[in-house]
Amino acid sequence: MKVPLNDLSRGLGASQELQEAVARVAASGWYVHGPEHQAFEQEFAAYCGVAACVGVASGTDALELGLRAVADPTAGTVLTAANAGGYTSVAARRAGFTVRYADIDPGTHCLDPADVEKRLEGVAVVVLTHLYGRLGPAEDLAALCRNRGIALLEDCAQSAGARRDGRRAGSFGQVGTYSFYPTKNLAALGDGGAIITDDPATADRLRQLRQYGWSGKYAIAVDGGRNSRLDEMQAAVLRLRLRCLDDDNARRRSVVGRYVAAAGDAVTVLPATGEDHVGHLAVALAQDRGALRSRLADAGIQTDVHYPVPDHRQPAFAGEYEDTHLPVTEQAVSRVFSLPCFPQLTDDEVDAVCEQLRVAS
Ligand SMILES: *Cc1c(COP(=O)(O)O)cnc(C)c1O
Repeated sequence: MKVPLNDLSRGLGASQELQEAVARVAASGWYVHGPEHQAFEQEFAAYCGVAACVGVASGTDALELGLRAVADPTAGTVLTAANAGGYTSVAARRAGFTVRYADIDPGTHCLDPADVEKRLEGVAVVVLTHLYGRLGPAEDLAALCRNRGIALLEDCAQSAGARRDGRRAGSFGQVGTYSFYPTKNLAALGDGGAIITDDPATADRLRQLRQYGWSGKYAIAVDGGRNSRLDEMQAAVLRLRLRCLDDDNARRRSVVGRYVAAAGDAVTVLPATGEDHVGHLAVALAQDRGALRSRLADAGIQTDVHYPVPDHRQPAFAGEYEDTHLPVTEQAVSRVFSLPCFPQLTDDEVDAVCEQLRVAS
């Protein structure tokens, strides 16, 4: 048996309903910022329990515009984790911010609030990535930031649907950013992204920034605008997929739960038990990751590493971070690997992975 890490062709892509939605948009003659887009913005804001959603072209654009909407790049530094794939670093640097890193909690792999607190000097924005689908310590970081006039941005690209005490990911800070890249829990048939916020003025500024800085047609009211739009086709797809999100997330959680139960001493699988984890990735840790991954590969089970190089050691900017040491991050990066996890994985496939996890222990 071959068990893929992910197989997007098993998703909704081929469904009648989705093909009809795409055909409807194609026939409508309205392809950008039309009725589907407007409806998606409203439906996703309502789902997240916030005042506004602003559609953009990708998760990285959402980060860049979200950062610029909450802080002036000359006014301070962005503080974030270094184990989250580098997206925040790329976006913050593009926006003109300097970036600093704090260490993570070894249990959650999200920012450690105690370490964040030690590094807040000169910080304008803290970016909390809800990594692997886990809603990180949003309440603690929001409290730390509030007292100091620092903005909190939540990167929810991996945590669509995650909820704690009735609040969705992205509703704890000033803004929450989403990616709808095809492998995400809420996925388009291509690129897409969004920013959510409870502040109408921030939403207005984001709507200007995403479209040339326009206040209205051909009137450039803010400098530094760009073109970053979510198109009608993707918005129509996302409206359909939003209806399945909670069920898909429950299935992901149950897959992770079975891996956790099967794993023994040589390998640990990070749990995804409550509603505050949406099982974006099933992440395991092993001291001898290489040996374990080749054993799984021999059994036909595909794995990957999210992510193999921490941001402060990335070749493009490592030179700036020779003095940055993040012991928990560095150890995690050397041990993590991801197991197959997507809603359409069959029970037999999950069994095959569990069998190997048992043998390995
Ligand atoms: C995927 C991802 C992004 C980037 O989204 P794109 O749509 O690919 O630009 C940002 N942050 C995290 C945590 C992600 O997983």
